[in-house]
Amino acid sequence: MSTLRSRNESAWLLPAGPGSNLLLREDMRRFRHEEEVDIVIVGCGAGGATLLQRLSRAGWRAVALEAGPFWEPEQDWVSDEAGSHHLYWTEPRVITGKDPVPLGSNNSGRGVGGSMVHFAGYTPRFHPSDFRTWSEDGVGADWPLEYAELREFYEDIEGELPVAGEHWPWGDPHSYPHRPHPVSGNGELFLRGANACGITAKVGPVAIANGRFGNRPHCIYRGFCLQGCKVNAKASPLITHVPDALAHGAEIRADSMATRVGFDEHTGLATGVEYVRGGLRRFQRARMVAVAGYSIETPRLLLNSTSPRFPDGMCNDFDQVGRYLMVQGAPQTAGRFQAEVRMWKAPPPEVSTEEFYETDPGKPYKRGFSIQTVSPLPITWAEHVAAQGHWGPALRRHMSDYPHWACLGALCEFLPLAGNRVTLAEETDRNGIPVACFTYSQCDNDRRLMSAAQKVMEQILTAAGAEEVITINRYAHLVGGARMAAGERDGVVDRNLRSFAVPNLLVTDGSVLPTQGSANPALTIMALAARAARVLIRGARKGAPASEKED
Ligand SMILES: Cc1cc2nc3c(=O)[nH]c(=O)nc-3n(C[C@H](O)[C@H](O)[C@H](O)COP(=O)(O)OP(=O)(O)OC[C@H]3O[C@@H](n4cnc5c(N)ncnc54)[C@H](O)[C@@H]3O)c2cc1C
Ligand code: SF4
Repeated sequence: MSTLRSRNESAWLLPAGPGSNLLLREDMRRFRHEEEVDIVIVGCGAGGATLLQRLSRAGWRAVALEAGPFWEPEQDWVSDEAGSHHLYWTEPRVITGKDPVPLGSNNSGRGVGGSMVHFAGYTPRFHPSDFRTWSEDGVGADWPLEYAELREFYEDIEGELPVAGEHWPWGDPHSYPHRPHPVSGNGELFLRGANACGITAKVGPVAIANGRFGNRPHCIYRGFCLQGCKVNAKASPLITHVPDALAHGAEIRADSMATRVGFDEHTGLATGVEYVRGGLRRFQRARMVAVAGYSIETPRLLLNSTSPRFPDGMCNDFDQVGRYLMVQGAPQTAGRFQAEVRMWKAPPPEVSTEEFYETDPGKPYKRGFSIQTVSPLPITWAEHVAAQGHWGPALRRHMSDYPHWACLGALCEFLPLAGNRVTLAEETDRNGIPVACFTYSQCDNDRRLMSAAQKVMEQILTAAGAEEVITINRYAHLVGGARMAAGERDGVVDRNLRSFAVPNLLVTDGSVLPTQGSANPALTIMALAARAARVLIRGARKGAPASEKED
């Protein structure tokens, strides 16, 4: 525990009980625009906040620009689905392709803490095979990084969130710092059905404190994780990394929308970030820039950062920016049970299985899927039922029957395809900046995985005793768009998340993932950012100027 506190004291800097340490915010260091800080980070979510905390602790003068607000959970969040819409990034975007992906509540957040403020809380690791799908399975791409190089960062972040769960037998088998949570009716039915089908399922891994953690209290199982946990039991950078960053001299400038990365034609280096705050356009000078605005906004910012050197967008010499953007296929199957299940009475993330994660040579598809409990609250449940075609009296009947339903969700590993990408649309946003256009089409492998996952979920719920099962198809999690690669013709950043084209520019969010496995991505994004920070700090200690590469 002492090692943990010496690495990150956030949980002890929060007040005992709910709420935030407002004093830390009031006393936050404030830099002047004309002052050249060591690093300016765009976006204060999973990747951005982790980098900010690590670098501030190492003495870097760091500023994070965050488009959304600095949340105060006690005032800004409510335990109510309809009242939580403001947590999502709902700025205009254009979607197209054969299988367009709806954007908004199911894929991105805004505000300090990023999408993890309203993420479900599942924090599995990627499997070693995810880092070399091309070599092992002939699909996807190999990462320029091995799983073993990320292991210690996974362990560190699991300690800091902290993660609770049973010993994990899949991928690189490992244990978690907190013991597994007790499970609700939904979780019990998953365990029962899986057991009957001979499928191993385990409780966890979830970034929800099981017992007191620092000043953070135990989860009270009230089920509003996707609305922002008012209790502070569920992890998000707002409570897991931001307090420590502020205590170590970081500045977080909320309500600040970055519009362009500055570039010096003579030095070939990034010079800082232009942003809009309160209707005014400003520029923060910096020795180094990190972009961490999530998979759609990161490529959009780079594409909008044009200059004589980069007429098609920064770091886009080889037309890689915005490409290989991925979603996971996320079908959901609900089952109706005679007895009341009351799936809302617990955190939605409880139990999962990774039995189907790896390529099975006997199947007509490569890679695989995971299955997890999901517990839609009433509005999301209505969407689920309506997506099945039920409307009017049939919809009302399903709604009054809500307590009797259990629900599982799959995450299918959709493959990275060059044509699935972000470009700039003709439409502009309220700041006059072109909005992102996201083109997405599935391949045959993707469709086969969705249908295989559906069969297994229906089998599990039926084996648990469901009288009726209904499945809807949907997507979850956006990653890729500025991927890491071994060379500049195949990606945007190197293994240390530093861009190939501009030596003092990094990308430190989910955009850098070359593949996505069938694991939820937040833990991996944080681990990658923590690793990138370590490389930067070591390089700086060696006296290397910010623009030099080091490993
Ligand atoms: C409903 C939902 C449930 C999820 N559940 C899970 C889960 O259970 N487990 C899991 O691992 N993952 C889950 N995720 C996904 C996970 O939250 C994201 O993958 C992760 O947070 C992405 O991290 P990031 O650093 O790439 O971006 P984010 O955490 O989204 O941070 C990006 C930040 O950048 C800001 N920003 C963007 N553009 C700009 C700009 N131009 N200027 C300034 N700021 C900008 C945004 O406001 C945002 O705060 C879920 C996501 C959603 C939406
Ligand atoms: S169920 Fe637990 S983690 Fe989720 S919102 Fe409630 S207290 Fe927070």
